[in-house]
Amino acid sequence: MTLENKNLITNYPSAKYSWLKSGGKISYLYKIYNQIDLSILFSRNDVKKKSLFVVGNLSNTLIKDEGFKGIGIKLQGDFTNIQINTDHMLVGAAVLDNFFSKFCYQKGISGYEFLYTIPGSIGGNIFMNAGCYNQEIKDKLISVIYFDINDNKIYEKNIRELEFDYRKGFQKNNTIILYGKFHIFNGDKNNIKKLMQEYENIRNQTQPLKVNCCGSIFKNPINQSAWKLIQSSIDESFYKGPIKLSKIHSNFFENDPNISANSIDLFISKIQKRVKDKHKIILQKELRIID
Ligand SMILES: Cc1cc2nc3c(=O)[nH]c(=O)nc-3n(C[C@H](O)[C@H](O)[C@H](O)COP(=O)(O)OP(=O)(O)OC[C@H]3O[C@@H](n4cnc5c(N)ncnc54)[C@H](O)[C@@H]3O)c2cc1C
Repeated sequence: MTLENKNLITNYPSAKYSWLKSGGKISYLYKIYNQIDLSILFSRNDVKKKSLFVVGNLSNTLIKDEGFKGIGIKLQGDFTNIQINTDHMLVGAAVLDNFFSKFCYQKGISGYEFLYTIPGSIGGNIFMNAGCYNQEIKDKLISVIYFDINDNKIYEKNIRELEFDYRKGFQKNNTIILYGKFHIFNGDKNNIKKLMQEYENIRNQTQPLKVNCCGSIFKNPINQSAWKLIQSSIDESFYKGPIKLSKIHSNFFENDPNISANSIDLFISKIQKRVKDKHKIILQKELRIID
């Protein structure tokens, strides 16, 4: 059986779908609707041997201009479902944060208000251990269900066995996150809605809106704010041009659409150098740059 006709997109233009509106093409992108698709695709040795990149909602990813020549995977179908069970929710990796947060509100489930303001997918969240307002995805997770491409099998790992850290979640090579099993916390719908609105208001006041960006460029070093380190290290020229830092939040940049990914990378390196020269601190990227 082949997946070529139904599922394959060649030269997938990441710039069209990414939040940065920039980035190179993915040579072979397979849309995966269910576990059978996965199993068929990864029974092929030629596919197994290539490097793997799983596309989430591309809100934290930039693909270099030369493009990604390996195998791209885009989960859809079964992986967009949310199932409520007695003591947990089974959430597909392709479910978007904002959708999931609104779903939880509708069901009177609290604890997921923070996801209302993150533009990623559950798979991307679990990979990154995404978080804001003092909450992280790891605090809500019971376990991660993933596919291992080497042995063509599905596994489940309890969160207690995983070493999630600040912006570092489930990052195991050659695996695809399929589902997260999440806790159910019963809450009051009015309170849930109030919190979602509060979080949205804070974001509207502290971050640039409706611009091409990737959220925070850098992770905060321990006990430091990346934006403060950046602001105190750069000059006005960094706030001008087709890629520029945001005046509202110096750890965000805004870029013109279709600007070269390599120039974004260079811009980021220049900021890193300024901060290193001034504070002797090497900022670590939160943005994933793929080549
Ligand atoms: C305006 C804006 C605000 C943001 N605010 C926040 C914030 O407050 N907090 C925060 O933590 N982040 C924030 N981000 C960053 C981003 O939304 C998160 O990192 C999010 O978790 C990324 O999800 P995604 O689906 O877009 O992942 P992508 O960007 O598509 O991918 C990110 C990484 O996850 C991997 N990945 C995605 N899905 C899977 C899967 N199913 N299996 C295996 N690997 C996978 C990708 O291969 C890639 O390496 C913000 C971004 C923007 C643009």
